[in-house]
Amino acid sequence: MTKKQKKMLVRILLSAAMLLGLHFLPIEGLWRFILYLIPYLTIGYDILRKAWKGIRNKQIFDENFLMAIATVGAMLQGVLQGGDYVEAIAVMLFYQIGELFQSYAVGKSRKNISALMDIRPDYANIETDGTLEQVDPEEVPVGSIIVVQPGEKVPIDGVVTEGASSLNTSALTGESLPRDVTAGDEIISGCINLTGVLRIQTTREFGESTVSKVLDLVENASSRKSKSEDFISKFARIYTPAVCFGALFLAVVPPVFGLLFGSGANFSQWLYRALTFLVASCPCALVISIPLSFFAGIGGASTQGILVKGSNYLEALSKTGWVVFDKTGTLTQGVFEVSAIHQQGTAYTGDQLIEYAALAESASSHPISKSLQRAYGGEIDRSRVTDIQEISGCGVMAKVDDIPVAAGNDKLMERLHISCSPCHLVGTVIHMAIAGEYAGHIVISDLIKPTAPAAMEALKAAGVKKTVMLTGDASRVAQQVAKELKVDEVCAELLPGDKVAQVERLLEEKPEKLKLAFVGDGINDAPVLSRADIGIAMGAMGSDAAIEAADIVLMDDDPMKIAKAIKISRKCLGIVYQNTVFAIAVKLLALILVACGAANMWMAIFADVGVMVLAVLNAIRALFVKKL
Ligand code: ADP
Ligand code: MG
Repeated sequence: MTKKQKKMLVRILLSAAMLLGLHFLPIEGLWRFILYLIPYLTIGYDILRKAWKGIRNKQIFDENFLMAIATVGAMLQGVLQGGDYVEAIAVMLFYQIGELFQSYAVGKSRKNISALMDIRPDYANIETDGTLEQVDPEEVPVGSIIVVQPGEKVPIDGVVTEGASSLNTSALTGESLPRDVTAGDEIISGCINLTGVLRIQTTREFGESTVSKVLDLVENASSRKSKSEDFISKFARIYTPAVCFGALFLAVVPPVFGLLFGSGANFSQWLYRALTFLVASCPCALVISIPLSFFAGIGGASTQGILVKGSNYLEALSKTGWVVFDKTGTLTQGVFEVSAIHQQGTAYTGDQLIEYAALAESASSHPISKSLQRAYGGEIDRSRVTDIQEISGCGVMAKVDDIPVAAGNDKLMERLHISCSPCHLVGTVIHMAIAGEYAGHIVISDLIKPTAPAAMEALKAAGVKKTVMLTGDASRVAQQVAKELKVDEVCAELLPGDKVAQVERLLEEKPEKLKLAFVGDGINDAPVLSRADIGIAMGAMGSDAAIEAADIVLMDDDPMKIAKAIKISRKCLGIVYQNTVFAIAVKLLALILVACGAANMWMAIFADVGVMVLAVLNAIRALFVKKL
């Protein structure tokens, strides 16, 4: 409990005790009023003050105003009716108990979420003269060697230079199996080192590291409002004045009517009903539980390695009907193996082709480039390469040892007016032109991600109507992957711009109600990620462009997580819907009962606090998403 909550608890107990004590004190008249005023002010002074502030700032219609006017009214009525002040005080008391519970529950769930997100490292170890020194991770320059001991968090992204260990990545990916790493492996910050001592050469600054990015995203997520939340604030703007006028109507019209038509005025009875009407009308359950549900939903998703950048995206995700995929790096591993080298003529050997390709690709972050560099195996001497140009969806051109080299697909060769020979093998073909002459091609092939087939089935099971694959790769490769994964539609040989056009076409074709999600690895598909209704990026191992452009980031690149994210969003929106319907229904019922004189102020406050407690408890359910 926080200090503020403790203080409130003391106020609640104190005023309840006073109320009990006064019950046995036989005093009448003014003194009775003054004595009862003490517990009333003890429990309600802050509400009265906030209501007064609201009036002065011309933002009158909030729950403080409702509570203030209702209880002040009830106190005054007590004066007129022989000193019954208990009701006014009790109403305030219950209201404050409700508020206390709510602040406790909200605080608790926030704390739960931050505990689950407890990945922020406090220090990095740097070894100087054989001793470890703890420094602020923000002060570690790129390229430093840091030491991570068992039990410590990896503070900064980097590459292991020495040691072997297993890492617990569950805070980032939701994956419970530890990941084994040895020298040469890239690792991301936020993981916990379990077994061995690791020496890591940092590849990013702390601020650019995965852990900082993830925390930024989650912390900013709640600032993007969903339609449901918008609905609530619009609703409150109309609702509160409406009930105030409703109450005024109740206080004035029926008694005046009675006066005119001779059935007796009874102003005091209708005033009481009007005040009860105000108490019953508090919309707190809605106002509190809906943002809390989204917050819990986003928190729950993040524990599964799914980062949602705002409640609006969670809402859109729940309506996903069509899912469009990029191929390389999204459905396939993006780790290509060289399956054949066909050289043209005898000018260059196969090994030389690979060497030139790897050098020309030295600056690219495309999976193809990484794979060629790995196939080459040797150290890449960047000083041999100049004038590097990467053409998205086509390939690269560069000068290696001052000789122009081009490596890419048919389109690249067409651009350069170099005729190339087709390949009979199925695979991604990298044509090579060296010094303006066609030199042959390297055939590489990629493996489908092991979870991809199951991910496709899970999507269909989750009610996704259509799946589409868009790729820049050759049509034969695309068809093969599509057949294996049972994708409904394939478009191949697309440039990044064509992918945008295809997504725009699909956006036109899809039924109005359904949303279209695009899933990509962010390498040259950032424009599509932002064009789709929902952009989902494979964010692992830090493709920065993807994390920037996407609305949802999957931390471990596992396509299974797409269906999971959809299920999480559905659960969360389901809870929002339940709370909305439940709260509005109970409110309406209470208001009708009060207007007919069938419910008193006690019942009204019970209904209000009760609904609020149930709605908050229900909202917290959105946090539990592990088993979905
Ligand atoms: P995908 O849509 O499958 O992710 P891309 O749009 O990234 O594919 O690339 C499409 C095609 O362009 C690749 O299959 C390859 O033929 C060629 N290409 C793109 N980048 C490179 C590169 N760096 N080196 C060689 N070829 C490339
Ligand atoms: Mg791609």
